[in-house]
Amino acid sequence: MKILLANPRGFCAGVDRAIEIVERALSLHGKPVYVRNEVVHNKFVVNNLKAKGAIFVKEINEVPEQQVVIFSAHGVSQLVRMQADDIGATIYDATCPLVTKVHKEVARKQRQNHQVILIGHKGHPEVEGTLGQSNDGQQVVLVENSADVEQLTIDKNSDISYTTQTTLSVDDTQHIVNHLKDKFPHIRSPKKDDICYATQNRQDAVKTLMQSADVLLVLGSRNSSNSNRLREIAEKMNLPAYLIDGADEIKSDWIKDANIVGVTAGASAPEILVQEVVNYLYDHGADELQEVSGTKEDVHFPVPEELR
Ligand code: SF4
Repeated sequence: MKILLANPRGFCAGVDRAIEIVERALSLHGKPVYVRNEVVHNKFVVNNLKAKGAIFVKEINEVPEQQVVIFSAHGVSQLVRMQADDIGATIYDATCPLVTKVHKEVARKQRQNHQVILIGHKGHPEVEGTLGQSNDGQQVVLVENSADVEQLTIDKNSDISYTTQTTLSVDDTQHIVNHLKDKFPHIRSPKKDDICYATQNRQDAVKTLMQSADVLLVLGSRNSSNSNRLREIAEKMNLPAYLIDGADEIKSDWIKDANIVGVTAGASAPEILVQEVVNYLYDHGADELQEVSGTKEDVHFPVPEELR
């Protein structure tokens, strides 16, 4: 059995930065620090930070007054920012700069009185944060698929713009965008595609990998959007794919007939988990490993100045 490793895979610049912000806040202020929502969607990362003294909360009303509060990489609504201010929190914002860019774009378009349409998954923290950037009660409209586009009743002659969640399937999103453009010929696109470089590169890498592999193992938590999209790419090619939090979740049945096992990791899954999967595969019949060549990434987002 051969192991094929996707490239690039695992941590993106936004996740690196978010984890560094929590770690630096802990060393500057001591424990505990409060993190609203999982700082990134990965069980291993969250448990590690919990062990160091981070407390994860769903809502700001779970945080006592005058504490350190960190917003997750997915970003927050304006309301959450106000709630944190109201309890006198020392705030560090770990929102990925690429999500912040979408927030600013939404606010800018609303100031120009555009109806903004967001393509994304209902209930995902990033989507809740982006929907919550509304100015003066102007609503951002969410569409998840083409059926939602069909149901929109916006005047097609009004000013309309769209934006997207950063971690969607590049192909599925293009399909929805085409539908929007058919229905609203004057709709404005974002200046630059809002699906982030890391999502795009990891999806491209899996497409290349699955030309050769028989099965795909994706390191990533169930609630990680970009990891789920990687799994779906293999499934759309009619190949089996499994999303796992670690090597201990692999079932030997999945790989017993495979000649080539593809391995990748979502943008919030650390490399140590990939190496554990590689070791598992060596223990279960693998005798060769190859890393597929892919797009080189050199993106780095610095932490806020006050934590440097
Ligand atoms: S996946 Fe993209 S948008 Fe999300 S944290 Fe990473 S770089 Fe930022």
